[in-house]
Amino acid sequence: MLRLPPFVLHQPATLAEAIALLAQHAPDVRVISGGTDLVPNLKLGQTKVGHLVSARFLEELHGITRTATHLRIGAATGLHALAQDEDVREVLPALAYAASRIASPQIRNMGTLGGNISLDTRCRYINQTELWREALGGCLKSHGTECHVVPGGQGCVAALSADTVPPLIAYGAIAEMVSDTGVRRAPVADLFQQDGTWHVRIAREELLVAVEIPIPAPGTRVAYRKWSVRQSIDFPLVSLAVRLDTDGAALVGGSIVVSALGPRPRVLTLERLAGRPLDEALAQALGQMAYDRARPLPNIPYDAEYRRERMVIEIRRAVRVLIGLPEKPLMLQT
Ligand SMILES: Cc1cc2nc3c(=O)[nH]c(=O)nc-3n(C[C@H](O)[C@H](O)[C@H](O)COP(=O)(O)OP(=O)(O)OC[C@H]3O[C@@H](n4cnc5c(N)ncnc54)[C@H](O)[C@@H]3O)c2cc1C
Ligand code: SF4
Repeated sequence: MLRLPPFVLHQPATLAEAIALLAQHAPDVRVISGGTDLVPNLKLGQTKVGHLVSARFLEELHGITRTATHLRIGAATGLHALAQDEDVREVLPALAYAASRIASPQIRNMGTLGGNISLDTRCRYINQTELWREALGGCLKSHGTECHVVPGGQGCVAALSADTVPPLIAYGAIAEMVSDTGVRRAPVADLFQQDGTWHVRIAREELLVAVEIPIPAPGTRVAYRKWSVRQSIDFPLVSLAVRLDTDGAALVGGSIVVSALGPRPRVLTLERLAGRPLDEALAQALGQMAYDRARPLPNIPYDAEYRRERMVIEIRRAVRVLIGLPEKPLMLQT
């Protein structure tokens, strides 16, 4: 049985109190929301920290509000609530779908959007017990000096596996953080860096309060695709969002956001394809574009080249759904 290590749990009732606690204990502190990622990582010794500050009772972190221009979603909003919310389902269907594909009903009831955005990276060599990792001599993320995924590599390339991140980036979400130095806003796309040991650009003394997502224009369509071995309780092995900005007949812009590769999602912009008709050839072109530019690593289970080809399939499916083509048997052209 894996035991929790000792730590001090703080349960502030106000945002000011929470910010003061984070400032007082940084860097030996973490925010805890649902705990569905943090608690297992504490048990595995993957995360070591003396203080946890709970986000549960902070009013500003809860709830979803809609204005004429955007949706604001509190960081402590539960994944189940997010997936079921009528406004989210109507305006940001790809985000609602992504949330609904996370883990299991129990975990979606505990887990939150903020915890999902800040989800620790995953790797077949780190999501193990401390004893297992030590037997291998550790790695760059766990008291070692080498990476087993990229031998000789200088950085940790563990994968970002958070389901909500690709659609949040595709929708142009802005994250709002607070700390004792004030409020900071940043696009969710800019929150990630190529360092799997600490990939989220949210400082230990910062609290993610909410994300704001602009209501998409009428011609904008976004789809999320996740491939995992099982339909539930499974992290994505391929995770991507496709955004098509259209004038109804042709593409005017958009993006493909591919995650579950390394610590940072890859964003491919589609402006140079502006003017292309919304047809099968577009689905093929976008799949090929991602194939040429995104290279999965053997950091999470399944053959990396297979995941690359699977990514192409999922992109083509996403595009077909978005432009109203029927699904048909898929032939890889790689
Ligand atoms: C069996 C199992 C299956 C899973 N399957 C999936 C899956 O398919 N897809 C997926 O994406 N995830 C999956 N997860 C991971 C996890 O359940 C979700 O990512 C969930 O959204 C995490 O949210 P949480 O509130 O529980 O985060 P926590 O565990 O509370 O926190 C996670 C991280 O976020 C930080 N954090 C939390 N809230 C804030 C905040 N407001 N401000 C700053 N930092 C914050 C914490 O400090 C911590 O580093 C799975 C977990 C388990 C145990
Ligand atoms: S990618 Fe390399 S350094 Fe990072 S957790 Fe995996 S084995 Fe360790």
